[in-house]
Amino acid sequence: MKRIKRGLIFPERYDEAKKALGRKKIEEISLPEEIIIPMSQHIGAPASPIVSVGERVLVGQKVADSEAFISAPMHSSVSGEVKAIEPRLGGDGKKVLSIVITPDDKEETISFKGLSDEEAKDPDRVRAAVREAGVVGMGGAGFPTHVKLTPPKDKPIFDVIINGGECEPYLAADHRNFLERGDKILDGLKIIMATVGAKRGYIGIETNKIDAIYHMDKLASSEGNIKVMPLNAIYPQGAEKQLIETILGKEVPSGGLPSDVGALVQNAGTAAAISEAVRGGRPLIERTISVSGHGMASFTNIRAKIGTPISHIIEECGGFKGKIGKVVVGGPMTGVALFDLSVPVIKGTSGVIAFTVEDTSIPNPRPCIRCGRCVDICPVRIMPNYISQYIEVDQVDRADDFDVMDCIECGLCSYVCPATRPFIQLIRHAKAKIIAEQKREEK
Ligand code: SF4
Ligand code: SF4
Repeated sequence: MKRIKRGLIFPERYDEAKKALGRKKIEEISLPEEIIIPMSQHIGAPASPIVSVGERVLVGQKVADSEAFISAPMHSSVSGEVKAIEPRLGGDGKKVLSIVITPDDKEETISFKGLSDEEAKDPDRVRAAVREAGVVGMGGAGFPTHVKLTPPKDKPIFDVIINGGECEPYLAADHRNFLERGDKILDGLKIIMATVGAKRGYIGIETNKIDAIYHMDKLASSEGNIKVMPLNAIYPQGAEKQLIETILGKEVPSGGLPSDVGALVQNAGTAAAISEAVRGGRPLIERTISVSGHGMASFTNIRAKIGTPISHIIEECGGFKGKIGKVVVGGPMTGVALFDLSVPVIKGTSGVIAFTVEDTSIPNPRPCIRCGRCVDICPVRIMPNYISQYIEVDQVDRADDFDVMDCIECGLCSYVCPATRPFIQLIRHAKAKIIAEQKREEK
């Protein structure tokens, strides 16, 4: 059994919640009254609308695109009429230009055309098909997938890893994807390997999804160069660099990328989306989402159309239960708390979690008592205690000396800190300052 060197095994009650969710089949939900498609759902340049207000659009129709290489187009997830093109609130609390569509109940779809088996052997055609389908990383970061499929020429890729870590509590979307869309995940992995010329493929799945391990092992049994790797269920096993170290025993250098050690990691849902884009020409217009937390009437996995308001999802999944303290999109460790439920599901939304007031507490940060817990637990072996103190006194350059840029924002330091120090907020602030400074120097 493989496992990361430092991390946290969550209390059993979280694992029980996750197991219960893992047994729930993916359900369809009804159409909302409006679909909101933000122009920035990925890392890189935002897309620009190519439709106008009043125009009728079909399911799968491209509605926005960009000429930038690091970007991705957007497609309508419904048929209906473009009601508005205006700034709307996103999950990060900022307003972003969005195409708002009023769905009709016709579900009229454009005709999709995939690549032939022969065409799918051409890496450039695969990259173009993946780009055209608007596929981006669905694990949360939203990196455009065609860019990931174009590694630098001097850095050959030998190993491709499908990330089935899904190590945060309350999430089971990838667990269900393995069970219900495993054939597409495996096909996506084979497409990625052929496209980047990798020799070996791995599917890393944590042992709290034992049925997914068996299922994928059976599907991949005839593939000589693909292995299913059972991983210990420990957070943050699903972080890219940690997964590479666990499975391949290689450490991605500080400030480096997986390609520096000949590896490429792709989320399970993204692999399925690659298969759909290449084989069927189907754009990324819906995704699997876990809806859970003790504040929800029930735990459910759903197939949500991109652009569906979170409020509609909560309603469709039975609504709230008890007094709600916080609603988070993503996992409880790395997700973002919402202050407005009208924000839409985007390509990187893995879950919606409602916490009751009993589950949540308002932190009251105090000075560090030098217990060292944050240092002991940090999976990238940096020193959150010193880093946070330097940032507080605006010595960001000192925080940079302590490798703040290597932080993967897993939140473990905050989880264990008895002084409830706001590490992530401070670290994000420092990273933004350092990046802005680097850009200024480049000019
Ligand atoms: S410093 Fe960053 S990587 Fe280390 S525990 Fe804290 S959030 Fe995680
Ligand atoms: S866990 Fe909190 S109190 Fe302990 S050393 Fe780290 S910052 Fe200080």
